[in-house]
Amino acid sequence: MRLYGKDKICGILSKTARQNRLSHAVLLTGKSGVGKKYLARYVAQLILCKHNACGECACCKNIENDTHPDVVFARKKCGGKYSAEPFRELMKDAVILPNNGKFKVYIFEECDTMTPVIYNALLKIIEEPAEHLRFVFTCTNTALVPETIMSRVTVYEVADTTVEDCERYLIDSGVEEQKAKELSAVFSGNIGECVNFLNYLSGNEKNKKTAVETARKIASAIASRDAYSASALISTSAEKSDFYIILDYLTNVFRDAIAIKHGQTAEYYDKESAQKIAGNFTDKEITRMTDTAFEISSNEIYNINPALTASYFISGIL
Ligand SMILES: [Zn+2]
Repeated sequence: MRLYGKDKICGILSKTARQNRLSHAVLLTGKSGVGKKYLARYVAQLILCKHNACGECACCKNIENDTHPDVVFARKKCGGKYSAEPFRELMKDAVILPNNGKFKVYIFEECDTMTPVIYNALLKIIEEPAEHLRFVFTCTNTALVPETIMSRVTVYEVADTTVEDCERYLIDSGVEEQKAKELSAVFSGNIGECVNFLNYLSGNEKNKKTAVETARKIASAIASRDAYSASALISTSAEKSDFYIILDYLTNVFRDAIAIKHGQTAEYYDKESAQKIAGNFTDKEITRMTDTAFEISSNEIYNINPALTASYFISGIL
């Protein structure tokens, strides 16, 4: 298992484990998409592998592939969300001794999304844990985790990955270099968001179609200088990946509009809007549109707020 941009924290965890000082309850906190789940698997390897998370032995491989019988992803085991009844059952199972080694590792992902009922069920087991139990928690916001839990865990902050780490990860995963560069820049080096976006592109054709449909409407609104409709349409596209598709679509339309204006061959991505934009806007205006679209797709503004991004984008082009 290769962890990108995690050398420092892996070093700290590994050293702590070698000195037998790894806490029985570890909490990994960091931004969404930063690799906390991968790191949780690494902690499980440190606990269960006899060679300090060598990555090579059957134990490590099983953990990496989520097939180790003594490593339990609690939320997944409860059917994808923390529901009270399956969770209580799961906690009852925790007292049963491990299958293979000395320990059983329970991983509680996004523990900041648990309800009070779940926290109570959890407390029972972590207050006086059996000898064979080890816990790994992950969360984005420690402020949402009750003090009763926080006081029983050792917290490790998981740093953001850099754009370079992210690029390397994508290239190693088979993404072509240029695309890896673009994605890493757009998602500011957040590997999780890049992966979600790629899955989204390859997987969910229906959602993708909806985003393209929205993009078509926005292009048409821009072509008619209808700032209000364009802005409303953009601000309702809540997903960042949708927004990326929309910007990509618009950039193609703007490029066609310039081509039409100069009597060059257009690709006619969206003939109607491109022709209308060519007729209604000056060269300078269309260039500004392209620049604004590019500026937004390559900086962080979207992270602030979709409605704000929409108004910034539209005020930049209309
Ligand atoms: Zn190993």
